[in-house]
Amino acid sequence: MPTVGELLPSAVERLRVAGSESARLDAEVLLASAIGTERTTLLAYPEVPVGPEALERFEEAVARRLRGEPVAYIRGIKEFFGLAFAADGRALIPRPETERLVEIGLAAVMARLTAAEHGRGSPLVRVLDVGTGGGAVIISIASELRRRRVDLGRDVTLAATDDSAEALDLARENAVGHAVGDAIEFIEADLLPPELPAGAAPIDVIVANLPYVRSGAIAGLPIAASFEPPRALDGGTDGLAVIRRLLALLPDALAADGVALFEIGADQGEDAPAALREVLPGWNAAIEKDIAGHPRILSVARGTEL
Ligand code: GLN
Repeated sequence: MPTVGELLPSAVERLRVAGSESARLDAEVLLASAIGTERTTLLAYPEVPVGPEALERFEEAVARRLRGEPVAYIRGIKEFFGLAFAADGRALIPRPETERLVEIGLAAVMARLTAAEHGRGSPLVRVLDVGTGGGAVIISIASELRRRRVDLGRDVTLAATDDSAEALDLARENAVGHAVGDAIEFIEADLLPPELPAGAAPIDVIVANLPYVRSGAIAGLPIAASFEPPRALDGGTDGLAVIRRLLALLPDALAADGVALFEIGADQGEDAPAALREVLPGWNAAIEKDIAGHPRILSVARGTEL
């Protein structure tokens, strides 16, 4: 039986030749998953023999990766915000930069909870994740709020929409997997839930990782992206078409002191605020950067002057 240490180098080499930029990591993650262990354990015990069934699983996984399929779909798992999410072709794979959306969304929720505790307004903070896909953003927010002993349902309500029924199925599975299935309402809808009461402006915090890749740039994305649902990436001619559609709905959806947080592309730090000025003149925009220092979140709120 071949050992871990014998199998890895040839797999790394094949993946490198096929064009993977993370050949070593890919090989290690796929072998660990084929054996049913953690990558760190694998690296600590290179002398461990790999049995025939694990070897077959590993070779199948490498073959799929060689055809360009993302590791997250092959494993069926992607880590995000310290949690493991089920990942498959029903939804976009959660990206590390999207953790920023979770952090800023959480900060917006906590600030409103604290204000509410000091007796200002209703104690309920209403959060909506628009275009939730596999649910990573809203589930991460829910898990972290629960960890902080926030009473979900009483102090914070959480809902999420997507126009893809199959993405919502994955999101529900993930929510159940993280024990927040009862805390999040998943709604099949194009952007906003249909039954929002007119004029009620009921949402305090909107988080949205909508498609924002320019249609013309889709073909140039890494081949792994071609395994993801195109509608989760394609943001129209300038990448901002879907974001603009949601911006136009904010006056009726967002509470007076509400905030809407949009993930944007690293090169949209000027175009996204310009789109806001065009769609909602007088509203405020701020740009937050991701850990790599790139513009990543467009934060939108009503203007203060009336
Ligand atoms: N960051 C993703 C990519 O570049 C795009 C995600 C999105 O459109 N929301 O592949």
